[in-house]
Amino acid sequence: MSIFSHHEYDQHENVLFCHDPISGLKAIIAIHNTELGPALGGCRMWPYATDDDALYDVLRLSRGMTYKSALAGLPLGGGKSVIIGDPHQDKSPDLFMAMAEFINRLGGCYISAEDAGTSVEDLKIMAQTTSHVVGIAPKKDLQGNIKSGDPSPMTAYGVYVGLSTSARYYLDRSDLEGLRVAIQGLGHVGYRLAEYLHKAGAKLWVTDIQSEQVERAQDELNAIAVEPDAIYSQTVDVFAPCALGAVLNDRTIPLLKASVIAGAANNQLQDELHGDKLRHHGILYAPDYVINAGGIIDVAHERTGYDHLQVKQHVEGIGDTLLEIFQRADSEQASTNSVANQMAEERFRSCPIKPQKLAS
Ligand code: NAD
Repeated sequence: MSIFSHHEYDQHENVLFCHDPISGLKAIIAIHNTELGPALGGCRMWPYATDDDALYDVLRLSRGMTYKSALAGLPLGGGKSVIIGDPHQDKSPDLFMAMAEFINRLGGCYISAEDAGTSVEDLKIMAQTTSHVVGIAPKKDLQGNIKSGDPSPMTAYGVYVGLSTSARYYLDRSDLEGLRVAIQGLGHVGYRLAEYLHKAGAKLWVTDIQSEQVERAQDELNAIAVEPDAIYSQTVDVFAPCALGAVLNDRTIPLLKASVIAGAANNQLQDELHGDKLRHHGILYAPDYVINAGGIIDVAHERTGYDHLQVKQHVEGIGDTLLEIFQRADSEQASTNSVANQMAEERFRSCPIKPQKLAS
């Protein structure tokens, strides 16, 4: 296992390997960049086949958080942690308390949150030992129902704002009445997005591998159900990926009839070059980590006192950021993803690492 020459290393500031023999904890915490503030990123628990797989994942994810927070206008850097273990078998209070001890050792440089394999309950255990945890404050959904910790309502709202901005910019739409949208995945974010769009008068084509969610959307939102693989080729204006990563690739891009891609899923492009491919096909792509930043904005606000209205206004800023990206991409004849990356780098690489920051 190489570290400094690792393909995904990309100037990470700190990588901590954590082992606690009593609880059985084996984890890695990666801090990519703290130029704009402490590194915030979720704690993932996954039964990685090898330690190399865990290292690859944590480095890649932590770098992504730097870009996401920078463009979300947050005073935060990027980090992530992974616990190597099966979330269905290996969880214990001792394990999460040991993880929290390691987070404490970083003195606030890393702030943790929920991620795949960890829950609000797990974070609440960590919060007994460390204050460097977010994602546990009560949140309201569209109907005003309160759910502890869940950032999905704000993620969905941000995607809705970003989708509306994209339609205004590229399709000259002042509203969404009659807009045709295909949604892939009706989970925590996708279903809420569908609700927003339905309320705004959009017509929905939906798919999910879980039939109950699709049936619910048919009943409640008058959506048209399609098979999972048929979602790409629907005659729609917008495609909203809200399930898996790498769904924009050599196979699917030629199938697309949508003019706009605007959805919540992380890592939608299989490769950065697929952003150029979308541009050549005349498709406007709202970069995933920009449009889906509602969740990180939501949990970040817990650090300064959670105010629903303030969070909502901050999330609405996603629309302005996308507009800047679209305009710059047009004037530079560049893909929107490459412009987003450049804009993020301009923010977090604006000055070299300061010696006093390392010492504090
Ligand atoms: P989720 O697990 O609640 O929902 C995902 C849905 O996609 C599920 O209903 C699942 O059945 C469906 N699905 C899986 N494979 C599918 C396939 N092949 N075809 C169609 N549907 C399929 O997840 P979520 O919290 O709604 O997140 C959705 C996406 O958004 C993920 O990529 C996630 O990483 C990203 N994201 C989520 C948040 C958040 O706040 N939850 C924040 C940022 C990004």
